[in-house]
Formats: sequence, C-alpha cells, structure tokens
Amino acid sequence: MKRTLYLKFLLAYLLFAIFGFIVVATFVHGMTYERLRRDKADSMYQVATQIANTYAADLYNSETSLEAVHQQMVALSGYMGGSPIWIVNPSGRLVLDSSRVLEQNKKDVIVGFDPTVIGTTYYTTGTFWNTFNEETLSVFAPITANYKVQAYVIIHEPISKIKASADGFLNISYLMLIVLFLLSLIILIFFTELVYLPLRKITTATEQYAVGNMGYEFSVESEDEMGYLAASLSYMAGEIARQEEDQKKFIANVSHDFRSPLTSIKGYLIAMQDGTIPPEMHDRYLGIVINETDRLTKLTNEMLTLNNLNTKGMLLDKSDFDINAVIRNVAESFEGTCLDKKIAIELVLTEEKMLVNADMSKIQQVLYNLVDNAIKFSHKDSSIKIETTEKHSKVFVSVKDSGIGIPKEDQKLIFDRFYKSDLSRGKDKKGTGLGLAIVKEIVKAHEENINVISTTGVGTEFIFSLPKAKSMDADDEE
Ligand code: ATP
Ligand code: MG
Repeated sequence: MKRTLYLKFLLAYLLFAIFGFIVVATFVHGMTYERLRRDKADSMYQVATQIANTYAADLYNSETSLEAVHQQMVALSGYMGGSPIWIVNPSGRLVLDSSRVLEQNKKDVIVGFDPTVIGTTYYTTGTFWNTFNEETLSVFAPITANYKVQAYVIIHEPISKIKASADGFLNISYLMLIVLFLLSLIILIFFTELVYLPLRKITTATEQYAVGNMGYEFSVESEDEMGYLAASLSYMAGEIARQEEDQKKFIANVSHDFRSPLTSIKGYLIAMQDGTIPPEMHDRYLGIVINETDRLTKLTNEMLTLNNLNTKGMLLDKSDFDINAVIRNVAESFEGTCLDKKIAIELVLTEEKMLVNADMSKIQQVLYNLVDNAIKFSHKDSSIKIETTEKHSKVFVSVKDSGIGIPKEDQKLIFDRFYKSDLSRGKDKKGTGLGLAIVKEIVKAHEENINVISTTGVGTEFIFSLPKAKSMDADDEE
C-alpha cells in the first residue's frame, strides 16, 4: 500500500481546490457582474426618471431655467459619484451635460443618436455612438411635456467601474474559498488520524505477521471499524501463535512418546541378539516388546482419532439413542478387566430408557475413555459408579471412582494433550495422556460441558452433559 492512499486523498483535495477556484473565477464572477450591472441600471433609471419627471419636465414647461437645472444636475451627479447626467433631445443635440460648464454644452451633437436602440429595456452598453473611449452603461428616461417626448435624461456610468466593484465581490469569494479550503483541512486531519494512521499500523502489523513475527504487538485505540479490524487482526495473530505453540508442544510430546517405547524395544532386541538376555528368557522379553508395540499402536490410533476430530470440524452423526443402553454396553466390555482387579461397576440409571440426541459412537468413546481411566486409577476391591440424572432438557452422565484422585493443580491440565499427572505414572505406564483430550473435543463439539471433581486419595468424578432427545421432552409434557 505504502503511501498511495494518502496521495489519492491529497489529489482529491487538490482537485477540490482547483475546481472550486475555476467555479468562482468563471460562474461566480459572471453572475456577480450581471447582477451588479442590473442593479446599477435599476438605480440609475430611478434617478433618471425622477429627474425627467421633475427638473427636466419643468424645463420643457418653461417653469425653470437651464442654468437652474444644470446646477441641480451637477449636484445630483456629484451625489451619484460623478456619473455624468445628460439631457439630449431626440435629434441628438446635447442640451445639458452635468460634467461640463453650461457654456460648452450647446455645441455638441451626438452623431447617429437613436433612442430606439434601447428597445424594451431602458439602457444600453457601449461607447454611446463613439462619444466615450470606454464601454459605458447609459440609462435613458424620456422627458414628456405636452404629450410628446421632448428629450431624454441620460445617465452614464463606465462599465469599468461596475467591473471593479464586481472584482471587489470576487475577492470576497476568493477569500471565502480559501477559508473553506483551510476548513476542509479538518477533513484531511480527521482522515489522517482516523483512517490513514491506523491503517498504516495495521498494514505494518500484517507485514510482520506475514514474515512470521506473530508476537508483533500494536494497538489502534478507536472504537470504530478500524479499532475492530485491528483488534480482530491481533486476536487472529494471537490464535495463530497459540496454535503454532500447541503444534510445537504436540510434536515434542509425540516424539517423546514414540521414542521411549522404541528405545526400550531396540534395547531388548539388541540384548537378545548379542546374548545378554539368554534364550530361555526370550519369551518374557518378547512379551515386553509386544506390550511396547501395543502402546505404539494405541498412541498412533489415538492421534489419528484426535486429528480426525480436529480436521473434520467435528462432523457429528447425531441421532436419538438410549444413553442407558450405551452405558450398559461399555460397562460390559470392561467386565474382564474388572474381574482381574476385583472392581465392581455400579449403574444408577434414571428411567429404563433415556433418549439423548448426540453422536452415538463418539459418546461411546467418551464413556469408554472415562471408565478406562476410572478402572486404571482405582485401587483393587473398589467400586465405580456410573450415574445418569436428568435436569431440564439435559442428561448428566457421571463416572465416579474412589481411586487415587487428581491433585488440584493438575485438574485444569488433564484435558490437555499428553498430560499425565505425576501421581498416575506409577499406576499406568501405558497411558498416552490423549484420552481426556479426545473426550473434551467430543463433548465440546456437541456444545456441551465436562467437569471434574476430585480429591487426592479419595476419588474422582467426571460429569458431562448431553441434550435430551426432543421426543423425550414431548413425553415429559404429556
Ligand atoms: P490414555 O487415556 O491415552 O491411555 P491417560 O489415561 O494417561 O492415557 P488421559 O485419559 O487423558 O490419559 O488422562 C490424563 C491424566 O489425567 C491421567 O494420566 C491421570 O493422571 C489423570 N486422570 C484421568 N482420569 C483419572 C481418574 N479417574 N483418577 C485419577 N487420575 C485421573
Ligand atoms: Mg485415559
């Protein structure tokens, strides 16, 4: 991205300024001038008609003298800022000119004078039949006496004067434009602060993450979309970092768990080969080797299960089934082991049939792992209780033993992959520490919970919940 977004925004800003300037210089200028000229013509026309109806009419009705009218015109002209006031008769002879002394007046004749050129308007612009060197606005007001147009009162104003005042207005417009332009800098500042700088931080962060620096920390402290984007991004990076960490731990654990059985297998085999272990002892040690390979097979299988659970995003094959039947089934499959250890499994099941909605084979695996642990970590001559209870729309399944228990500090960790408490190591050498991780994944996929209650030396209870089948709820209501 680099700096292009900012450049684009600056370009837009400059375009705004340039177009603003063009608009003011052309349209605004033209419009102001037009407006001023009309206003000027209007006000001049008012004065001209006033004169035509009063002093000038008096002149033609022979009620006043030319000198007196001239004096009035000079005064009026001065009052109007020096605009010359003329009285011209229809033939073009200049009767009176306020800008000159009276004696000089009588000689002038405007060659080609034609008052009809004004048409329906009451003014004309131009050099007034070559009388002036510059363009002039001339306003006409007819003087009527005895029902006849006797002459015209004509007031002149150089166009350059009107243009000058239009320019004065234009300067105000330019000033406003500059003020506006400066004010719109606020937008630029906001853009920089709220969009551009956070975006740069985010981009830098993504670049860091892209090269694998997942620990890169940054913060965008705004509560808008930018802040949200930044927070999501840094959360994502955290998750990836955590997963990477997990992955590393997982590989380390797997290699460790694979290496120890392999080392012992190799050790026994070499000892048998070089005669350190006499042939009559081979049977015994081959038994150990087979045990170790069993452990490796178990480890591989469990890892595959976990991997499948993870990658498939837990495709659950849910159905309504009787959890009591599944519990009985699992208990039966442990009969042999129980007989060896003289452990009794006691079932306390609510109702004859308890339908739940879940993935049956996965729940079976959960129960299998829990009962397997319970038996492994129980003392001889003890009992294990499997219980179901029903509460609202849930069924709670509890597997309780009176075995070695789990130390408090380990209770949070036992669901982690490969975690085995030190206490249990003596009791179970074959365990991989993956059983409860699988259990947790399955329960989580069902959007249910599993909890452990345990006291060292007293026993352990695992309780997990399952959703009751809809048909069961309907039965309840009947
Ligand atoms: P695996 O199940 O893969 O054979 P494992 O039984 O050691 O190996 P988990 O089932 O994940 O692994 O259990 C993890 C650890 O939690 C056990 O090693 C043990 O320390 C502790 N644990 C689990 N269940 C119990 C229990 N019922 N009583 C005492 N400790 C237990
Ligand atoms: Mg286990």
